[in-house]
Amino acid sequence: EAERLFELVAIPQPARRVRQYPHEFSGGMRQRAMIAMALANKPDLLIADEPTTALDVTVQAQILDLLGELREELGIGMVLITHDLGVVAGIADEIAVMYGGSVVERGATEPVFYETAHPYTAGLIGAVPTLDGTGALRQIEGTPPSIFSRPPGCAFHPRCGRAGAPCPVDTPRLLDRGGTACACHFPLTETAEAARPARVLDGDPA
Ligand code: SF4
Repeated sequence: EAERLFELVAIPQPARRVRQYPHEFSGGMRQRAMIAMALANKPDLLIADEPTTALDVTVQAQILDLLGELREELGIGMVLITHDLGVVAGIADEIAVMYGGSVVERGATEPVFYETAHPYTAGLIGAVPTLDGTGALRQIEGTPPSIFSRPPGCAFHPRCGRAGAPCPVDTPRLLDRGGTACACHFPLTETAEAARPARVLDGDPA
């Protein structure tokens, strides 16, 4: 079975490789072996937590291709946890952006990138360096909060340039506003005056 799984994740010479130690594998092959181990239980859902961290971009692309192929071939769902927006753009159907332990924006990949509503998501996208190297590298000022002492109200308010009166006191709920669902009192896609009726997504019908 180990040989079959190694073959499934495209490790060459699986019969020989299953008898080797991890230090005899490259980083990319160790990652493939990890994926093979995760598939051994025949899961319906594969949770891949930073599957390409510490891999060079060529191997990263191979691992992402492999995950995409396995998803198709085996008909399984996949939750990919990553900080790499390039990876997200290439592989995800839907994105949930988390800040301070909560989902702050959620939607199909294209609207999240092109109709961004939450200032934190916009900050993440703005911090991606351009290929031609023009312009200063933008950053989100400040640091993420400790999960043990979340700021009151919107957890992002100490770092947000759009913060207004309700932000430090009133926790925004995740609301579906058409393009994406967003937890923000002043989403980038709307002015307060033009706010459309919103559907509550976080279970609170109020
Ligand atoms: S709720 Fe306020 S502080 Fe939070 S992201 Fe929106 S504008 Fe910024």
